[in-house]
Amino acid sequence: MKAMVLRGPNTPFVLTEVPDPVAGPGEAVARVLACGSGLTIQHIKAGRIAAPFPRIIGHEITGEIVSLGAGVRGLAVGDGVTAYYYLNCGHCRWCLSGLEPLCANSGGNVGRNCDGGYAEYIKLPAHLFIRLPQGLDYRAHPAEVGVIMDALATPYKVLKRARIRAGETVAVFGAGGGVGIHQVMMAKWARARVIAVDVAADKLDACRKAGADEVVDASRGDVTQALLDLTRGEGADVAIDYVSSTSTLEAGAKALGRHGRLVTLGGAGQTFRVSSLDMLLKEQDLLGSRYVTRSEILETLDLVARGEVWPIVTEIRPLAEAEALHERLEQGKITGRAALLIGR
Ligand SMILES: [Zn+2]
Repeated sequence: MKAMVLRGPNTPFVLTEVPDPVAGPGEAVARVLACGSGLTIQHIKAGRIAAPFPRIIGHEITGEIVSLGAGVRGLAVGDGVTAYYYLNCGHCRWCLSGLEPLCANSGGNVGRNCDGGYAEYIKLPAHLFIRLPQGLDYRAHPAEVGVIMDALATPYKVLKRARIRAGETVAVFGAGGGVGIHQVMMAKWARARVIAVDVAADKLDACRKAGADEVVDASRGDVTQALLDLTRGEGADVAIDYVSSTSTLEAGAKALGRHGRLVTLGGAGQTFRVSSLDMLLKEQDLLGSRYVTRSEILETLDLVARGEVWPIVTEIRPLAEAEALHERLEQGKITGRAALLIGR
């Protein structure tokens, strides 16, 4: 099969002919129709996230099962599928209690610790494939369907993690990014009032198009003050931080009102300071949010199948143009998600 192979960190893709994957016991192989191209996998390509090489990256797949190894149940050849991103075990305490991202035996990530979707075929442990629902025309829209399992499901999960209710004010930091803009969309779907925070005019325009009620340009002064001004001094109900730097986390925490909730995801592990007295007096929560469960992916797929939301994929290119697409990703030029079309 043809695959885009990375031979090391910070090297160009090499279009390579590699052996077709063969499903062993408990595994399945899918033909890849499309694979999303987001910043997480660009971080692997650029060497900012460590991975073993050579590697085929990519995890936001739409595919069709072509072969099953011994002992696989619940999948059939021809099934339309996407994939779960974490190589979780499926049987530890955390996997069994609906907290799969916390798996105690996690083997890492699809497209990082095993080969991923930038190839004509992908082989995974069969339990990581997720069948697409009836009513989702994945053949007509493989790029959009592929990104649901991360770019759209992650913000959907945050709605639940932060207990977002209709009418609440939700500030999204990094709202112009590939997942942030879907957070704007999902928070609007949940009937919240959404304030998008980012640093470039074109990104803020895209946030408005995705449904943001207000935008704050963080390059133009004090974000906390701007959020307080937009909430009549009361503060936001929820701040969701896709940047999660020291400065954005502290700005978000200070902009929270009574019963406020700060959600951190993304970022590089920076520390930050909050007032414990504010947390106490206002009964505020600090929350970490890590990817999603398989049932949250199924719920998000159903939302798309019912036409309630639709992923924002603005650039779709053939596999051969992966390098050019990733240059644009690196330069921050992609609005929403990009994706590669691979098979038919
Ligand atoms: Zn587990």
